[in-house]
Amino acid sequence: METGRRRAAGGQHLKMEEIQNMYARMGIDREVYTYGESVLKGLKERFEEIDEIAEYNQLKVISAMQDCRVSEACLSGTTGYGYNDLGRDTLEAVYAKVFRTEDALVRPQITCGTHALALALMSNLRPGDELLSPVGKPYDTLEEVIGIRPSKGSLAEYGITYRQAELKADGSFDYEAIRAAMSPRTRLVTIQRSKGYQTRPTFSVGQIGELISFVKQIRPDVICMVDNCYGEFVERIEPGEVGADMVVGSLIKNPGGGLAPIGGYIAGTKECVENAAFRLTSPGLGREVGASLGVLKDFYQGLFLAPTVTASALKAAIFAANLYERLGYAVIPDGSESRHDIIQAVTFGTPEAVIAFCQGIQAAAPVDSHVTPQPWDMPGYDAKVIMAAGAFVSGSSIELSADGPIKPPYAVYFQGGLTWPHAKHGIMKSLQSLVNSGIVEKGRLRL
Ligand SMILES: *Cc1c(COP(=O)(O)O)cnc(C)c1O
Repeated sequence: METGRRRAAGGQHLKMEEIQNMYARMGIDREVYTYGESVLKGLKERFEEIDEIAEYNQLKVISAMQDCRVSEACLSGTTGYGYNDLGRDTLEAVYAKVFRTEDALVRPQITCGTHALALALMSNLRPGDELLSPVGKPYDTLEEVIGIRPSKGSLAEYGITYRQAELKADGSFDYEAIRAAMSPRTRLVTIQRSKGYQTRPTFSVGQIGELISFVKQIRPDVICMVDNCYGEFVERIEPGEVGADMVVGSLIKNPGGGLAPIGGYIAGTKECVENAAFRLTSPGLGREVGASLGVLKDFYQGLFLAPTVTASALKAAIFAANLYERLGYAVIPDGSESRHDIIQAVTFGTPEAVIAFCQGIQAAAPVDSHVTPQPWDMPGYDAKVIMAAGAFVSGSSIELSADGPIKPPYAVYFQGGLTWPHAKHGIMKSLQSLVNSGIVEKGRLRL
């Protein structure tokens, strides 16, 4: 009894050596490990802040689930038409509460983030309307949705025009340009929260709120939509709380918590969500059909986990930013900036380093760690791209993942991490890979 207790107490303070031995077995050299640990020492306060946000958001999710009386019966789905799908309808009520909107559409039939955004746009715009982006160029895949790059079925083909107001050089909103770009035909304004794969800053929910107020002052009837991809649960509030009429995202990013195997959501006003439902299925049918099949338990449990999973991904991004910044690489956001999404960019300057980094991330994966990713000609890109994934859900970018276009400035974008210890290991492994390739000399790892 006595020894058992003592043993347990000793176990709580796992010796640094034991962890280090574990890392050594995983191929992490002592110098890489100690360097990583020394970087982490300086991040305690920031990690505490992230944990506080996760705590707040966890309570937000739990209380929404309780208020909506989520029951065991909600976890099993329907087949066929999917009439009277209690779990699906309740989940949509939970999303509306979490995102503080009147209503929400959350479906496995929404295949990805781009589809959710296209659906929100196509269902709320009519021929002759104009769409405005007041924050410069939208995410790559939306160029085809809008018709900036010609594509079958684009908004342009339906006579919906598009304008954008560029951001100022410092990444802030150009209010005069936005005012000038608004016309009587402007029907919908699309605001992308995350920088995605650009170098502009990601906007805070507060900044988005200011922009929405400005737009609504000029034209109160304009619909304001926020592309919320990668932003969910990073802050205490979401864009619906600062006036957004629609908040749109993917379930294989933050809100799916790594468990959702597919899906997208549109949270917003009753009218906007209803329009989207009639477009998703069919006029006359709307949200009444759409069987949830077997995904509901993962949708619920994923949403339940999403606040802490997002916190892990945020810690990973901050750790990587500080680790690589200290080695002299340019990082966006920088090591000390406040965060509004989970994406981290590191500029390495050479193709070899981009490749080594991604191969390190892959080597740390729970799935396909034995695979060595190589640059390839991905459809839709103008240069070869290397991608590291090794995810449980194919293409899921809330799981630790990285990709880098093989062209100047030779930057990698990386994001995700379902658990902080895995993300930490992945980042150490990326550095180890750079060391093994002779790109980072061990001498540079002195503290
Ligand atoms: C990921 C992303 C999208 C598109 O989502 P997919 O699921 O990849 O189609 C759109 N906008 C932003 C900002 C994103 O990060």
